Amino acid sequence: MAAPDRLRRLLDEIAAEARETAGRTGRAAFAPRVMQAIARARREAFVPPAEAEWAYVDRPLPIGHGQTISQPFIVALMTDLAAPQPGEKVLEIGTGSGWQAAVLAALGARVFSVEVIPELSARAAAALAAEGFDGVRLKVGDGWQGWPEEAPFDAILVTAAAPELPQALLDQLGPGGRMVIPLGGPQEQQMLTLFEKAADGSISRRDVLPVAFVPFVRPSRPA
Ligand code: SAH
Repeated sequence: MAAPDRLRRLLDEIAAEARETAGRTGRAAFAPRVMQAIARARREAFVPPAEAEWAYVDRPLPIGHGQTISQPFIVALMTDLAAPQPGEKVLEIGTGSGWQAAVLAALGARVFSVEVIPELSARAAAALAAEGFDGVRLKVGDGWQGWPEEAPFDAILVTAAAPELPQALLDQLGPGGRMVIPLGGPQEQQMLTLFEKAADGSISRRDVLPVAFVPFVRPSRPA
């Protein structure tokens, strides 16, 4: 099947899964602009060459270093929940392949993404540049601390499962901001969770969908 046909089939699958999970997510259909961004950020350019033939299958794929590129449906869901508007500042924790960052950039957001594995960050930087998303800012380091110099953010997406809500990230969310994060420890069922910060700073929380992300790594700090 030619790439455009595979892409169309993937978009159909994402739309079908959105309908099937609407009772839990509250989203029967994702915004058309989110679906367009999924299409524009060519996933095949962000997976290792050996995985390219699976790029348009709705599954996570290995990207080396024990990490994965997220499942397209989950990327669409998280992006729709975070609802980044053009010009908004968006923080991603866990650059991985760079594909989620590219989807956010395709929506016109100003994207800042932190990755703890230097080799993955370097590969993501190359793929983002090759695909014309060179405005994305990348940093190597522990995402638990967020990116305080660039805060506040209008939206924050965490793409690795955290045992608890990182307080620094909540602090770096601006008024009106949305944060999407899988919460759950290594042996627990993870829950994709949406936090919203109102204009007065109060926080609301909603459980969205059970998910399976790679765990958040906590680099060991000097004692
Ligand atoms: N958003 C990615 C998904 C990557 S999987 C994509 O679109 O491909 C999660 C990523 O989080 C992995 O690359 C992992 O190395 C990274 N990660 C795990 N713990 C981290 C931490 N403490 N800080 C930053 N990144 C982290």
